[in-house]
Amino acid sequence: MNVETILLALSPVFTIFVIYEFIKHKHHYDIKDSLANTVLALLHQGADAIALILLMPFFYWLYEYRLFDIELSVGTIFIAFLVQDFLYYWFHKASHHVHWLWAAHVVHHSSTHMNFSTAFRQSLMYPIAGMWVFWMPMILLGFDPITVFATVALNLAYQFFVHTQIVNKLGWFEKIFNTPSHHRVHHAINKGYLDKNFAGVLIIWDKLFGTYAEEEASKPCKFGIIGQIDSYNPLTITFHQWAHLMKSTFSAKGFRAKAKVLFSYPTSSLKPR
Ligand SMILES: [Zn+2]
Ligand SMILES: [Zn+2]
Repeated sequence: MNVETILLALSPVFTIFVIYEFIKHKHHYDIKDSLANTVLALLHQGADAIALILLMPFFYWLYEYRLFDIELSVGTIFIAFLVQDFLYYWFHKASHHVHWLWAAHVVHHSSTHMNFSTAFRQSLMYPIAGMWVFWMPMILLGFDPITVFATVALNLAYQFFVHTQIVNKLGWFEKIFNTPSHHRVHHAINKGYLDKNFAGVLIIWDKLFGTYAEEEASKPCKFGIIGQIDSYNPLTITFHQWAHLMKSTFSAKGFRAKAKVLFSYPTSSLKPR
């Protein structure tokens, strides 16, 4: 099973959740926004499928240099999930702090709405940005590429369910797992919420590495990005930040200055709201 098969198999479940939420909580939806999210999901899945086909021979070459021979068992599958979720945390944190990676990840954050369809809002540029680089340590550790990309897919599938405003705090579950409440904070630009809660499945990484923030009833989440883009065009949504990044890189004088633009904290070409 590869990433696309797993996500495709689960797509009827995702659709049911979106329809339910749309019927019961229409005010969380903007049809144009959700339509853009759906087109972005299809573009992203297409790009990912192509990238995986092209990169698989490289991953199997890398696998030849693995440190351990890991046989799949309940124990090692559990470790695979743990390692992948840990790597996801660093991928996600880097995606918010490194302009090159943010150029892809910004797509997911650039809506001012928050509903299950927001989970679909992804960039077709992830393979170019190099999301897959973050899974390489797992392959080198000794997990075969199929297992690695199956855990990636299941992690992303879990994250679909945290994109909603209709679920409040979930008791003890909040302490260990990423939840709608934690992820609302992640999508918010309020002071104290910005660049927090990078978790995939487990919130423990944020608590361990000091990036955890609790959703406060007195501080409702303001969703979006600093320098809010105002477009429903999937191509504008996908490429606006790349255009800004390329322009800034070309106009920076000298190699060091260019590298700094590419790899330091992202800036926006748009004025903050
Ligand atoms: Zn993010
Ligand atoms: Zn999200």
